[in-house]
Amino acid sequence: MENDIEKNIKEIQDKIKYFAQKYKRNPNDIQLVAVSKHHTIESIKAAYKCGIENFGENYIQEWQEKSQALSNLPNLKWHLIGHIQSNKAKSINSQINCIHSLDKLNLAKEIEKKSPIDKRIKVLIQMQIDKTDQNKSGIPFENAKELCGMLAQSQKMDFSGFMGIGPEEDDKSRLSDLYAEFAKNAEYLWNSFSNRPKDKYILSLGMSSDYEIAIEHGSTLLRIGTAIFGKRK
Ligand SMILES: *Cc1c(COP(=O)(O)O)cnc(C)c1O
Repeated sequence: MENDIEKNIKEIQDKIKYFAQKYKRNPNDIQLVAVSKHHTIESIKAAYKCGIENFGENYIQEWQEKSQALSNLPNLKWHLIGHIQSNKAKSINSQINCIHSLDKLNLAKEIEKKSPIDKRIKVLIQMQIDKTDQNKSGIPFENAKELCGMLAQSQKMDFSGFMGIGPEEDDKSRLSDLYAEFAKNAEYLWNSFSNRPKDKYILSLGMSSDYEIAIEHGSTLLRIGTAIFGKRK
């Protein structure tokens, strides 16, 4: 298992470099987050040994257990990428490096009110990519302005960019169009609402099956699970 993880990580890092070159991107601008949901502590340790420091988890409780078990690993950073219920705002703290899944004004308000955050944490707005995809959450672009405005004022959350989950789509050219539109909308919102519009922002886009297209459209952060750890149980 450990050998597989090491081999998979090398392969993905090589592919990221290759795709970066293909699409005239700087590979250093593309961060890899290993999505460890439903995978074991041992798997996370194996990836960490290969130099991976950023891990993504979907469920608060699973993250809490893992972060406790791995609290001795320096430099390990946690990304919360799954849907968060507003009543879980109390569990959000500064041990989270980045929340990717902020998709509602109400959730943002609850975090602002109730989270024991002592050092501002990065948050990304999860924006809808495909209006016809019912499974995937995310705030529609049209409704995101109020949320962006609220985040720009926040004392606890540092508005840092956008996240999107692509639809399962066999038609690569349709996917490419959707990602292009997503990136354009993200740029508009960043320029209009960020406190630091001149800075770079995070575009968290691309998973095991679609990261080439995500890199093509400007992704700066890939969330990769299966291609590193294998199939989830
Ligand atoms: C599970 C998950 C991933 C990883 O998906 P893979 O296809 O296993 O790479 C990425 N992002 C989110 C939001 C996820 O829930």
